[in-house]
Amino acid sequence: MKIESAKTAGFCPGVKRAVETVYEQIRLHQDQEIYTYGPIIHNEEVIKDLAGQGVKIIHNEEELRGIREGIVIIRSHGVARNIYEQMEEQGLDSVDATCPFVKKIHKIVDEESRKGSYIVIIGNGVHPEVEGIRGWAGDRVSVIRTEEDARAFELEDPGQKVCIVSQTTFNYKKFKDLVEIISEKRYDIIVLNTICNATKERQEEARRIAARVDAMVVVGDRRSSNTQKLFEICKEECLNTYYIQTLDDLDMNQLRSVETVGITAGASTPNNIIEEVQNNVRINF
Ligand code: SF4
Repeated sequence: MKIESAKTAGFCPGVKRAVETVYEQIRLHQDQEIYTYGPIIHNEEVIKDLAGQGVKIIHNEEELRGIREGIVIIRSHGVARNIYEQMEEQGLDSVDATCPFVKKIHKIVDEESRKGSYIVIIGNGVHPEVEGIRGWAGDRVSVIRTEEDARAFELEDPGQKVCIVSQTTFNYKKFKDLVEIISEKRYDIIVLNTICNATKERQEEARRIAARVDAMVVVGDRRSSNTQKLFEICKEECLNTYYIQTLDDLDMNQLRSVETVGITAGASTPNNIIEEVQNNVRINF
């Protein structure tokens, strides 16, 4: 069997930086409580390891209010402006591991909404990155995820300035399609494609590989948005696409009759998990 592994599989620069930041803080501050605002990445294995080293997760603003001391690390997804304000009010030390690409979106959204633009975020409204971006936009903001959302989008003032940005991990093709639908409405629109290059390259490579193999394996946590997108993209090209979290989820029988297998992984999948999958597929076939 021929195995083709994606070169772009695994931690992206933003996730790598965030995870390294947490381990660094553990090393530097062994006498203090370390918190992350939300799980540092969407990966159970990494979260378990950090929990074993005493790192606690703050799940929401209410929990944050109950923290009296310690260090709070902001994950790569970023947070809304009011979370920074809340931490300052409580006098908590914070370490900001928001990915610079996400920070850039916060800045755009903040500036554009101050200038009077209505903000449209193309993405998944319940994803923490989008919740964070939303928190820099004031009240005049919509999140659009589907074609139905885009068609239903309507503003009273036809001359309204609209600024469209994207969740960094959104599917580029879908982004273009949704922007096209919104553009037909003729508002005064500026479109800023804020999908990060790491995501775009990963998606393009996954699509290319999936199009030429008999089966495709996508490795990543179930909650990882970018892994879900990778799975969707690969499935479009290759019907035999399997989404696994770790090697344990891979049913080798499904690969028995194929000649070529492609392997890719989401931005929050650690290298050791990817290598374990690659090695086992290699050994078994
Ligand atoms: S996917 Fe891109 S934007 Fe998101 S954390 Fe990684 S590098 Fe940053």
